[in-house]
Amino acid sequence: MPGTFIDVEVDDSVRGDVTLARKLEEVCPVDIYAATDHGVEIVERQLDECVLCGLCLDAAPDGAVTVRKLYDGTALTR
Ligand code: SF4
Repeated sequence: MPGTFIDVEVDDSVRGDVTLARKLEEVCPVDIYAATDHGVEIVERQLDECVLCGLCLDAAPDGAVTVRKLYDGTALTR
């Protein structure tokens, strides 16, 4: 289940990247990313806490992370 207001997508090409997973876990102020041995996991119960800071986009390769604003149909991406 995505959040009510926010969904986050991590591209399959980087989902298994453990180093990126740790970076995302570190930068997100509201703990939407969890680093596991298998890469990035999205902590779905936290999705609606997103503050749209863009730090996850800065930490990831271009196009790898998309933050979707389900309430207006737009998205943060890079
Ligand atoms: S935009 Fe900020 S709060 Fe939202 S998922 Fe990315 S790092 Fe977390």
